[in-house]
Order: sequence, then structure tokens, then C-alpha cells
Amino acid sequence: MWVYRLKGTAAELDPLVPELFHRGARGLEEREGEVWAYFPAPVDLPFGGVWEELPDEDWLAAWRRDLRPVRAGPFWVLAPWHSLEGQGIPLVIEPGMAFGTGHHETTRLALSALARHLRPGEKVLDLGTGSGILAIAAAKLGGEALGVDIDEAVLPQAEENARRNGVRVRFLQGSLEEALPYGPFDLLVANLFAELHQELAPRYRQALAPGGRLLLTGILAEKASWVKEAMAKAGPTFLEEEREGEWVLLAYRG
Ligand code: SAM
Repeated sequence: MWVYRLKGTAAELDPLVPELFHRGARGLEEREGEVWAYFPAPVDLPFGGVWEELPDEDWLAAWRRDLRPVRAGPFWVLAPWHSLEGQGIPLVIEPGMAFGTGHHETTRLALSALARHLRPGEKVLDLGTGSGILAIAAAKLGGEALGVDIDEAVLPQAEENARRNGVRVRFLQGSLEEALPYGPFDLLVANLFAELHQELAPRYRQALAPGGRLLLTGILAEKASWVKEAMAKAGPTFLEEEREGEWVLLAYRG
């Protein structure tokens, strides 16, 4: 377990809390003028904190033990040691270093939106695949899914998760550019962050088939207007906005 130590009180650092969780923090603690954010491994963070490795593995073991299955749309997200109770489509995801265990609002928003928008046989791009959870969910709904991520370290975890779920998904290192030769896609789902959606907005359409849909999340509610403005300029038609807690998902037709 690693800790990212930030100078300041919890109240002062409150605006960073959703961002820290979105970037993989498993928990936060206030300690004598500092806030400690716990992560399974260091990630690139622009908040001026200091990383320190903690020798004690108990925290991680306790976190794994306390994990509960999560419901999102028609899915149940389960760790490998959970069993499905009740009805739903199981998604078995090893909670490891890659983002996407179903415990974040944005992943759940994307899973529910996939179930609403995806039709069997459609081609799906999962941009920023992390644990592979969204690409695997798309495959379970009958889609032909490609998952890409700029971080090559997540790809073996995504592949292993696809195997666990008995679905065929292609995973590649890269971003939108690298995915284009495998398109066009009927549906593009991207759980990234508002600033990156703004940057990618003019290029999303290049990846879409006629009538293709975009599901964009990882967007803090207070930054949703930035993405909406960029998308309005880029041209896709706004379809819907969903919100869970402080996070939103925006859906478009390209
Ligand atoms: N799709 C998973 C989910 O919904 O839970 C993981 C989402 S996680 C918030 C974002 C992922 O996007 C990370 O794995 C990160 O490495 C990746 N990422 C960040 N910038 C990217 C970019 N420009 N192109 C592709 N992937 C990117």
C-alpha cells in the first residue's frame, strides 16, 4: 500500500477528494496538518503531494475483505471470491491496481448507460479501459469490444479479467488515435476526465460509425459545462445526462 501525503486539513483539501478517489485512492485520513490518501500503487498526481510506501499490508487485506458486490444497471460487479446472489449479469473483476472495480460512481454510470445504449452485435470502443470492466460488460451485452489504455501496466489485468468472465475482448495500448484503424465504432464509452474530454471532443466523431453514440464520464458535475461546450462546438447531438453523487455521464449521438 502507498500513501500520498498532502499538506493541509481535510476541509482545505475537500475539493480534491473526488479527484483522488477517481484516480484510485482507496481511502483518506487526516493526520496532523496533512491528508493521507491510500493507493495500491503510486499514480501520476498533479497536487504537489509526496509518495511513501507503507510496509504494512493489513490495510490492503482489510480493504479486500470488506469489499462488497456492487450493483450497476443490470450488472453485479463481483470480486473473484464473491458469488452472485439474486439476479443480474455477473462481472468478475479482480480488485487490483487498475481503476475499475465498480466501486466508483463513474464506472457505475457507464455500466448502466452501456446497458441502455448498446445493441447486440455493435462495435464498441472503451477508451481508458483500466481493469477492462466496461469492455467486458459490452462483450457480455453482445458487443464486439476493443479496450485501449495509455497505461500498458493495466492491460494484463484487463486481459485476465476478460478470461475470468469468459468473453473475448481485444485490448491495446494507446488512445483514440491507435483505436481508429479498428473502427468505426457504433458506441464509444470513455471514463476519463473533463479536461481530456474537452481536448478529444473535436476528434470523437472520427471514431464513430453513422448514428454512433458517445458515452462520456469521469466528469465532475462542476466541470460538465466545459465538456458540453466543447461537444456543442464539435457537433454531436446531446442525448442525455445522468448523475450519481458529484459525477456525471453525458451521452451523444455522433
Ligand atoms: N474504464 C474503467 C472504468 O470505467 O472504471 C477505468 C477508467 S479510469 C478512470 C481511466 C483510465 O483511462 C485509466 O486506466 C488511465 O490509464 C486511462 N487513460 C488516461 N488518459 C488516457 C488517454 N489519453 N487515452 C487512453 N487512456 C487514458
